[in-house]
Amino acid sequence: MAQKLQAPRGTQDVLPDQSVPRLALERLARSVLEGAGYRRIETPTFEATELFARGVGTSTDIVQKEMYTLEDRGGRSITLRPEGTAPVARAYLEHGMHKLPQPVKLWYLSSFYRNERPQQGRYKQFWQIGAEAIGSAEPAVDAELIVLLHTILTEFEVADLHLRLGSLGTPETRAVYREKLVAYLRANEDRLSEEVRSRIDLNPLRAFDSDHPGTREVMAGAPLLMDELDAGDQEHFDEVRALLDIAGVSYDLDPTLVRGLDYYARTVFEFTSGALGAQSAVGGGGRYDGLMEQLGGPATPGSGWAAGIERIVLSAGHRPEPGPVLDLYVALDAGDAQGDDARAVRVTAFQLAARAREAGLNSQLELAGRSLKGQLKQAARAGARYVAVVRPGEIGLKDMESGEQRPVAGGVDAVIHDVLRGRGPVVL
Ligand code: AMP
Repeated sequence: MAQKLQAPRGTQDVLPDQSVPRLALERLARSVLEGAGYRRIETPTFEATELFARGVGTSTDIVQKEMYTLEDRGGRSITLRPEGTAPVARAYLEHGMHKLPQPVKLWYLSSFYRNERPQQGRYKQFWQIGAEAIGSAEPAVDAELIVLLHTILTEFEVADLHLRLGSLGTPETRAVYREKLVAYLRANEDRLSEEVRSRIDLNPLRAFDSDHPGTREVMAGAPLLMDELDAGDQEHFDEVRALLDIAGVSYDLDPTLVRGLDYYARTVFEFTSGALGAQSAVGGGGRYDGLMEQLGGPATPGSGWAAGIERIVLSAGHRPEPGPVLDLYVALDAGDAQGDDARAVRVTAFQLAARAREAGLNSQLELAGRSLKGQLKQAARAGARYVAVVRPGEIGLKDMESGEQRPVAGGVDAVIHDVLRGRGPVVL
């Protein structure tokens, strides 16, 4: 026998039971975001590799180690999207969205691909809900985005939720600070991890993310970017904080918060859940005022976030939800009938199920050739309100609540009529 195949390591099937909480999350996110004027966007699964090299940054882990990159037939290098902001920014530029009223508010729900070491809550293919507001530098945009994600996460009952907030300043502030940090790291080089040491010049801010004990000790005394903000950055940050206070969203200031991506400026934030293990980040984002220029567009401010669907669902526990009501189960009982007579039973049953759906009823047709007893059992398992039993020349209707059974004269339409009447007024 041929060997059984499995899904690649680090990928997951979403089985029907697992899709229930995901769908609930999608509905919630959609209602929260569209209610605030965000409109859905869908970009391609793959993009030109250069988009991520320019829009995420060549010094990032994502671009250096985690991208699925391949050459297509024309020798063009393409990459499965590892994140959503650069593609949305590309679409904004490509479609001239600067002509629309600003900010342009977009949201997405898509799959992303990173070649990371798989573990609980970390996969090679995962799904994110994301929101981006492009075209405004207002602190209110950042605060509103944070409040919207907070609403989604709290309404979905993510357990033990915390928000960390920081500011990275503008690129100029960061450049000055960077030099200061590099000098500090060089002065303490012998206590740093191999990896941090090798990346001092490339990405010194990432040293704050290290869990290497020596590095952590050094970083506890490191100069902090939040102490170096210029007046404009400070004012922006103070306003974001004031608006979050007004919205009643509490947070911890975290001067060491360093988002993995290069394009952030000013506001950065991350939501974590204590219910998750090592991979505790459920969602995060920030302001990316420099991104559009890196992609060849005019200077355009932007702000946004992305949140991982698998981690939100994991941290919120199981959320059982009733499935749709099954109004009618269509069973077949051909008895001793053969040939055309047996076929007539199958055709009538098929028609009845289809016509019932046209009339707005949820209906299922017996498809497994079970005995009548087996079919009634299956109908009960599926939670059917009525079962129609199609026999040669006759249809019977069973009310599964009262157990009452009776023949229905008048064929398919009469059955549908009776089920519609029995179902009572439609509650929307
Ligand atoms: P990032 O773009 O890295 O800030 O990721 C945003 C969110 O996506 C994170 O907070 C996670 O919830 C989720 N996420 C990122 N990478 C993965 C992954 N490899 N597997 C599952 N979820 C992820």
